[in-house]
Amino acid sequence: MSATDSRTTNPHYSRTDTAHLDVPDTEWKRILPDDVYHVAREKGTERAFTGKLWDADGLGMYYCAVCGNALFRSDSKFGSSCGWPSFFEAIRPDSVRYESDKTFGMVRTEVLCGRCDSHLGHIFDDGPKPTGKRFCMNSAVLDFEEDK
Ligand code: FE
Repeated sequence: MSATDSRTTNPHYSRTDTAHLDVPDTEWKRILPDDVYHVAREKGTERAFTGKLWDADGLGMYYCAVCGNALFRSDSKFGSSCGWPSFFEAIRPDSVRYESDKTFGMVRTEVLCGRCDSHLGHIFDDGPKPTGKRFCMNSAVLDFEEDK
């Protein structure tokens, strides 16, 4: 099942409703494609340079592939050499939230969707101006919609 197909069968997906979701993983497991579930709910990481969006450069909006929450605008995306789609700023401060992640012997800051709490990736301090931040995201949990 592709991400597009899952959207039509996902009752929680909305690009307008920003109310916080509290959906158990057992239900997400039933709704989401396996690759989306693995990143979003098991905090997986896709291999660098393999995702569908790391080098995308179209004008448009990036939404959470799990719940439809608006996350990033293409004008905050930058060509990062790391192999994952990278942004210097979220579309709204509360479109994402942050948690300390001490797994794999590192101290990193995890980025989660502000609406559905899905894992999106991590944020680092080596991004470009004006924020100096690098939101290092997984393509699997992003839906890109090009401007019409
Ligand atoms: Fe979400």
